[in-house]
Amino acid sequence: MTYEHLRAPLQLGSLRLRNRMVMGAMHTRLETLDRPIERLTAFYRVRAAGGVGLILTGGMAPHPDGRMDPESAVLDTPEAIAEHGHREICAAVHEEGAAIVLQILHAGRYAEVPECVGPSAAKAPIKRYAPRVLATAEIWEIIEQYVTTARLAQQAGYDGVEIMGSEGYLINEFLSVRTNDRTDEFGGDLDGRFRLPVEIVRRVRDAVGPDFAIIYRISAIELVEGGLTGEETLELARRVEAAGADALNTGIGWHESRVPTIAASVPRAAWAFAARRIKQAVGVPVIASNRINTPQTGEDLLAAGDADLVSMARPLLADPNFPEKVLQDRTQDIIPCIGCNQACLDRIFTERTASCLMNPTAGRELDFLLPEPRVRRRVAVVGAGPAGLAYAITAAERGHEVTLYDGADRIGGQLNLARVVPGKSEFNEALRYFGVRLGELGVKTELGRPVDAAELTDFDHVVAATGVHARIPAIEGIDHPSVASYLEVLTGRVTPGHRVAIIGAGGIGFDVAEYLLGDPSETTDPQVFLAEWSVDPAIAEPGGLLSPKRRPRTQPPAHEVTILQRTPGRFGRSLGKSTGWTLRARLAHAGLQEIAGVSYDRIDDRGLHYTLDGAQHLLEVDTVIVCAGQESDRTLYDELVAAGGETELIGGAHTAAELDAVAAIDMATRAAYAL
Ligand code: NAP
Ligand code: SF4
Repeated sequence: MTYEHLRAPLQLGSLRLRNRMVMGAMHTRLETLDRPIERLTAFYRVRAAGGVGLILTGGMAPHPDGRMDPESAVLDTPEAIAEHGHREICAAVHEEGAAIVLQILHAGRYAEVPECVGPSAAKAPIKRYAPRVLATAEIWEIIEQYVTTARLAQQAGYDGVEIMGSEGYLINEFLSVRTNDRTDEFGGDLDGRFRLPVEIVRRVRDAVGPDFAIIYRISAIELVEGGLTGEETLELARRVEAAGADALNTGIGWHESRVPTIAASVPRAAWAFAARRIKQAVGVPVIASNRINTPQTGEDLLAAGDADLVSMARPLLADPNFPEKVLQDRTQDIIPCIGCNQACLDRIFTERTASCLMNPTAGRELDFLLPEPRVRRRVAVVGAGPAGLAYAITAAERGHEVTLYDGADRIGGQLNLARVVPGKSEFNEALRYFGVRLGELGVKTELGRPVDAAELTDFDHVVAATGVHARIPAIEGIDHPSVASYLEVLTGRVTPGHRVAIIGAGGIGFDVAEYLLGDPSETTDPQVFLAEWSVDPAIAEPGGLLSPKRRPRTQPPAHEVTILQRTPGRFGRSLGKSTGWTLRARLAHAGLQEIAGVSYDRIDDRGLHYTLDGAQHLLEVDTVIVCAGQESDRTLYDELVAAGGETELIGGAHTAAELDAVAAIDMATRAAYAL
């Protein structure tokens, strides 16, 4: 039997889980939409119906001071049970055969509320508000607040609670000398600093009795200076287990850590070693998390004995039926999470609701409850980029007969550019999935030749997903032989010289910089990744970080690159909030020069001439790469309209500005539902 470890049931305290697949806690902000109870219930119901063993909810604060932000939910009174639909959520999940555990999260100094509190006064480097220092008596009150929330969760019908003790939130802050300089019984030595989590677990256990699961999420490696050492972490694990935890979930790093933990550039299962260390120290089940996005990764981890369960948050956002497809041996059909964060974390961090680049129905379940269309239509989709692929697959899934055209001899459009960028190889998975689905759904593909309106007259409906072409800025010398477009570079048609200027610092400008400067040794090998970021798998030093912070690159960069923009000020504003900083840190390390506020004068044999602050400058470069945005390609659409057939425009061909794969796939999926 395949995936026998993932399939196996497990006893977690008094709770019998139907398999080892766990949906990790995710903050979705769905509670901020219209009909929040219905939306959240649908979100969880769909995932429970998809076969997962255990769902961990998004974090729920035990007190308003501990909210992630002013809109986050609190569970502190019986009225809050009804207000947030907890009974409905539990009932829906149980009807579909899964278990559900409520995560209790006190955000401490990470709370985006002015009333935030902490063990000490230091402000988190990534947050706005400095915490108010908690008095000793208040800490005992917080412990009681956890107990109250756990009791309320039990009344609402949850199967247990997860005490969030990782990622740098309140409990984590108490553990570490980095954030705890207290001299009362909650500071000082390990007994003092560990008192908060141990007392919470012990008192919650006393309150809820033996038949209610308690999971403690431990920071398995801190990745911050002054964090716990490996030995201290194991000691904490043993104490929390002794206090009554039924299982330990593993968190990786604090949010303020400067080591990426879940970005696509982090190799799959890179943090398995940290879960393994905990597992070897305790007798209760251990849950591994972070960058486990394929069944094989999860299965290998369990088979190696690194953990007892695998937690997958984003993968179950991308495909709620991931577990069912594992159980049915249909893993090729799993909608892959490509680790991009573009529609999930980047949205959450910018106060929007979560969805998924690969699956726009995620978090929008109620929007896609449309009945199957009554009439099967013959549909032509022209353009096999993200929009065309999403449209073709969705329309075929809804019963239409679809033919997909593209002038290129392969599907993917601009996704083919992303996948060659170091750290974005997961885009290959997206392309593999789209290819599999086209085949399974019987979509006819006509690739490798352009198609014109005259050929499409027999179709009931024609969709122009013809994408974009690169904008050519009006700069003197733009046709100089040293000038290339990003398209020519990323497709390998032009090999840039040693000294390069990049005109334009949007997502594609940075992609090109990474393409030129990315370390070729940046592989899928966890050991290489850990070494590059100076992470010590033995966690001998506090936080598990080695000095010096970053090791020298294994190979020097092949290019000297300068990126320019006309806009003054900070670079990388359009990059994703969760991963942009990683990219910029890597590129700075590789020597990327940034020049903002320029106006371009001309390009000639000597290089790129520009003006900055009224002074003229020359950047002596061998190649100028133009990444100045895109313009819609509507040639075919205009022909179709002139011919008078039923047609529609989607993706970059519809809107080029600010259009990325998230928007393209979302627009296409909605349009295909509307057909
Ligand atoms: P973009 O984000 O709009 O950036 C275009 C850049 O070109 C800007 O930096 C702009 O800066 C410059 N520019 C615009 N017009 C110009 C002109 N006439 N002359 C010179 N410079 C000009 O477009 P993009 O980089 O092509 O990206 C397209 C879309 O894909 C965006 O939505 C982007 O977010 C998305 N994308 C995202 C990622 C990701 O990792 N999340 C990666 C790739 C692409 P100035 O006006 O300041 O000069
Ligand atoms: Fe995964 Fe990207 Fe979807 Fe987030 S948006 S769940 S990272 S594929």
